[in-house]
Amino acid sequence: MRRNVQKRRRRGLAFIAVCVVAIAVILFIRNENLTAETPPEETSANSQTSEQPDPTVSESPVVSDEPSDTPSDTPTETPSDEPSDEPSNEPSDKPSSTDEPSKPAVATAGEEDGYAVVAQPESVAVLVDKQYKLPDGYEPTDLVYPDVRFTFSEKIDKRKMRKEAAGALEDLFAGAEKDGIYLAGVSAYRSQATQKSLFNRYVKKDGLEKALTYSAFPGTSEHQTGLAIDVSGSDGKCAAEDCFGGTPEAEWLEDHAPEYGFIIRYPEGKDAITGYKYEPWHLRYVGEELAQELEDKGLTLEEYYNAVPVTK
Ligand SMILES: [Zn+2]
Repeated sequence: MRRNVQKRRRRGLAFIAVCVVAIAVILFIRNENLTAETPPEETSANSQTSEQPDPTVSESPVVSDEPSDTPSDTPTETPSDEPSDEPSNEPSDKPSSTDEPSKPAVATAGEEDGYAVVAQPESVAVLVDKQYKLPDGYEPTDLVYPDVRFTFSEKIDKRKMRKEAAGALEDLFAGAEKDGIYLAGVSAYRSQATQKSLFNRYVKKDGLEKALTYSAFPGTSEHQTGLAIDVSGSDGKCAAEDCFGGTPEAEWLEDHAPEYGFIIRYPEGKDAITGYKYEPWHLRYVGEELAQELEDKGLTLEEYYNAVPVTK
């Protein structure tokens, strides 16, 4: 009996000893952690380090833990910087997304008929396709008659282009002539109303689904931007037809259009991306810089804007 009692006492003592050691170890580790956490500035009072962290934490208001330092300093700086930079530089370019050269995106302003509506229809870099449409009834404000040859003589809408594009087109035609290539305009600007009556006619004839495969839904035609033009050789043969492909005129355009700020908008083999089959005659003005970049990188406008694929 006594032995048993002694054994129990020993065990009890051993247990208590283990507990004491364990507690001592825990306290030691905790102390180490606490000293490690304390900011270097406060370690001067080494003896109190184990207690100090608590008061410092509880002193600073819980919500403003991190910002507690910054608010007093920064607020006067950052707000004054931002407004002064952005508006003063380019107030017209506020929707900043289109400015980023590395990751451009299309700024949109809502939806219409299942299409995203572009926010800046007047931008020469605007994306208009089977996903992005112009605001309903959009009309460019600076349409002019480019001084170039057309396959017809009437002074009508489809001869018009936006001023900047018209000037570039004149340069392109002149450049082509120097190389012995004689081009003619076939069809440039087209209003939404014209596109609508055209499209409706196709729908009546072939049904909506089929009409969509070869004609643009009203508001989604690049011709409405005033930045696009279909061209042919000066004889007008193969105007807006597949047989234009491979002609000296088509090859010259393929090689030189970007120098004048134009791209072959629907290149061969990119139908799934642009939503249109190869159209060697359809030129789209995007400005020299962007045209050259797209040419150098072999990108369509959809790929440039990460707006692929077009599925409609
Ligand atoms: Zn066209």
